[in-house]
Amino acid sequence: MTRLTSLAQATGPVLECRDFGHAWSWENDPQVRLERGKVVEFETTDACLRCEARRTRTIEAPSMTILRTRMTYPDGYLAPRGTRYRRADARAERFDRMMSRRNTR
Ligand SMILES: [Zn+2]
Repeated sequence: MTRLTSLAQATGPVLECRDFGHAWSWENDPQVRLERGKVVEFETTDACLRCEARRTRTIEAPSMTILRTRMTYPDGYLAPRGTRYRRADARAERFDRMMSRRNTR
């Protein structure tokens, strides 16, 4: 998994997800764990329609409480170690690209 070295390297979909949040879509039928014939836990994996991040959630039944969430990110999504990008940073990068496209026309 390759990390970004700056937001200037990020693809458009990565910047959109960092600004808007991911566009989750249910990817699989859940794996279920049964106790005495009843579902007590199930696990679903969701895929982001834009950036291809994956989220696997373990959910308790019947409360539907999320017990665990595991994330996997595509190459070029994560910030460099020790760096944290804010949503506004992604918005600023998108804005800069939009303005530079305008200036070249
Ligand atoms: Zn995404």
